[in-house]
Amino acid sequence: MTDLAESPAVRRLDDWDAAALTELVDEYGSPLYALDLERVRENYRRLESAFPDAEIFYAVKANALGDVLEALHGAGAGLECASAGEVKRALAASGSGADVHYTAVNPPARDLDWVVDAWEDDPELTITVGAEETIDRLEERGYDGRLCLRVNPGIGAGHHEKVQTGAAAKFGVPAERAVEVLADADERGFDVVGVHAHVGSGVSSDQLDDHREFVSRMGDLARAVDDALEGDGLEFVDVGGGFGVPYREDEQPLDLEAVAEATRDALGDVDARLAIEPGRYFVADAGVLLTEVNTVKEARDTLAVGVDAGMTTLLRPAMYDAYHPIRNLTAALEADSADDAGRETVAQTIAGPICESGDVFCTDRQLPASERKDVIAIGNAGAYGYEMANQYNSRPRPASVVIDGETRRLARRRETFDDVTRVETDRSRPADADREAHNEDETR
Ligand SMILES: *Cc1c(COP(=O)(O)O)cnc(C)c1O
Repeated sequence: MTDLAESPAVRRLDDWDAAALTELVDEYGSPLYALDLERVRENYRRLESAFPDAEIFYAVKANALGDVLEALHGAGAGLECASAGEVKRALAASGSGADVHYTAVNPPARDLDWVVDAWEDDPELTITVGAEETIDRLEERGYDGRLCLRVNPGIGAGHHEKVQTGAAAKFGVPAERAVEVLADADERGFDVVGVHAHVGSGVSSDQLDDHREFVSRMGDLARAVDDALEGDGLEFVDVGGGFGVPYREDEQPLDLEAVAEATRDALGDVDARLAIEPGRYFVADAGVLLTEVNTVKEARDTLAVGVDAGMTTLLRPAMYDAYHPIRNLTAALEADSADDAGRETVAQTIAGPICESGDVFCTDRQLPASERKDVIAIGNAGAYGYEMANQYNSRPRPASVVIDGETRRLARRRETFDDVTRVETDRSRPADADREAHNEDETR
């Protein structure tokens, strides 16, 4: 186990061993996600030491690979899930509903069916609802278990408007309705255990005032709910995730101690435990995407470099205009061998193979001139990387390798063309032949 004191607050792309990453591409092909589990555990321990009294959940949607869920659950994290599918994976990895929270956002009926079924076997599971109707829908299904209410505090933080959820109408019940809703749920026999809010992703050190304001509202709310409940009161106040990581090379890491202190102060004396549920923070800098250059051409104002990963492999740049650090590993290794003068640094635009103009990882970035077959690493790809990967353009999703100390394991094989068409039905069968089985098996 790495000593926490020796674990840097952020792992930069330059800190990765270029030779070791290049070898992974030789062994497993490209494009390839690589994830360092020991780094994931270090990130957990750093957060745990800043928030010693908090319950820490991992927001599974950042990276739901079984290896990650087991590593974080093994380190002590609970698992926060955004769908029935995630609950299924979390239960498989943790073995216990006691460590699993399901945060239902406009939950499809089959998600509720599945989760209530799971709860019957595992009654310690917690469900967080973001609409009063969801409480009714749970009641209809016989659920009277652990219930938490997601509130919309009317305040948002985050690095891009698409991830500022605090003020968005789809998330949570307006905070001013929370006491009434929870008192009613309590009366109806639900086991009311918590209040919850998640105001967005990308909370940074310079947004501490917003964070303080938000947490202080949650503290007020928790005290008001506690007063209104007749039973044992609240177990936890969950202030969500959104702990930012530096994507740009010159960005400083989040001052965790400052965030922790602001959180404790702002919450005030509430007779309930603080819960947090970051996703990105644990996994972002533990993962890189490796991709190979296939085309280099002089475009009008830039060197256009084509690689075999695209927006189907890593969607964040296309979806959020997200910046990711990029490093040419082959050029870096050449520069290390003393007999080479090194490549010229030129502005280049690195793009994928998808027929979309948004399929670009960087525009006019200054990097060593790329050549065909170079291996390129895209940093901070451990969070919302593979999870958002898709098969657009009939492109199979990439493989994932997990690094754990000296071990390298193919954690997820590369998809094949057959995987892309696997769910299509046989066109020679009668039109409705598969319908019944389909409706029964959807969520299995
Ligand atoms: C996405 C999400 C998180 C995690 O956000 P990060 O930015 O990855 O920390 C936590 N809680 C909820 C409810 C979420 O939807």
